[in-house]
Amino acid sequence: MVTLRWFGHAAIELNFGGKKVIIDPLIKDNPKSPAKLEEVIGKYDVVAVTHDHPDHLGDAVEILKGGRGHFFANFDLSVYVNQTMGLPIEKVIQANVGGYINVDGLRLALTKAVHSSEHGDPTGVVVSGEGVTVYHAGDTGLFGDMRLIGEVFKPDYVLLPIGGRFTMDPEQASLAVEMLRPKKAAIPIHYNTWPLIQVDETQFVKLNQTKGFKTIIPKVGEQIQL
Ligand SMILES: [Zn+2]
Repeated sequence: MVTLRWFGHAAIELNFGGKKVIIDPLIKDNPKSPAKLEEVIGKYDVVAVTHDHPDHLGDAVEILKGGRGHFFANFDLSVYVNQTMGLPIEKVIQANVGGYINVDGLRLALTKAVHSSEHGDPTGVVVSGEGVTVYHAGDTGLFGDMRLIGEVFKPDYVLLPIGGRFTMDPEQASLAVEMLRPKKAAIPIHYNTWPLIQVDETQFVKLNQTKGFKTIIPKVGEQIQL
């Protein structure tokens, strides 16, 4: 069984039959987080981070320092997290944008994203396990190579930022859905956390619907079976 839980913002927990992944774990400074930091420390096999902005790197290092699990991000961010933030090298998965790598029975890959960052290029993350493939786009503007991401990884679910201003807005994200062609559903993230990224998510739902794609809007903290 595969489940998803939204922590608000871009923070997503995925559970692939007991293998637990958290992506962009903003907990402490996340006004919507349903969990306290101490409740999630040491709880994940993989902590994936799409780029180094504080609302995405979040509490990744604290979560991993407290127990098991590996850090998954672009190479330069991994080096920074190891050398400057003191995460032991054996807790780091060395990778960059490219093909799948196998970690603890899961398949992980990093993809292109169009955004900014200080340590290495920003990325999206693909996680596949138990027959379910999930693509988390990270922070990104719209770009045509999403068609390739759809073609290569054939995602069942796509998690797309829709807050506008720093990322795609609902209309652009709906164009991304058309290119990615998720087999099951699109899920909006990175919106309504703060006033600067306030949008009407129902616009995303309606646009996807007219193109024949399903949208799931999780409630924060709710566990959804994928
Ligand atoms: Zn960012």
